[in-house]
Amino acid sequence: MRKVPFCAGHRLLHHEGKCANLHGHNYVVEFHVTGSEVDELGRVVDFAVINRLFKSWIDENWDHGFLLWEEDRDALQALRQVTPHKLYELPYNPTAENIARYLLLEVGPRLLQQVTGYELQLTRVVVWETVNASATAALNAEAQLFTTLDSAQEATE
Ligand SMILES: [Zn+2]
Repeated sequence: MRKVPFCAGHRLLHHEGKCANLHGHNYVVEFHVTGSEVDELGRVVDFAVINRLFKSWIDENWDHGFLLWEEDRDALQALRQVTPHKLYELPYNPTAENIARYLLLEVGPRLLQQVTGYELQLTRVVVWETVNASATAALNAEAQLFTTLDSAQEATE
């Protein structure tokens, strides 16, 4: 398991409370990778390589940027007026659950494809939005997605 911290802004479109405002978090993401740790030549997979893959993707795409729903036209338009800006559009509201789901299903498989020779799978992503609040997206034995909210995250900000 590797932990990757990053800072980012977001807001939850249509949220009935303060999370509708642009605000930010010091996120921590846990990436849980499973699979064969030894290839056919007996080499042990270098988890430092995997760690670097995840960390550089987060640094490049999300760290010190804004994560926004692609439907959030007002926020996207407003932030595009600012130079420089770093925006990442998600296909759904950037809740901790959805951020975990996106990393698990969209980003992880793409990055692990770059590590050849090993049967690796990203099986669980935990996104900590505050020290007390996290959400988990994971694959069960049938490779079906399930997500859990591990505390009343946005409600306690
Ligand atoms: Zn928030």
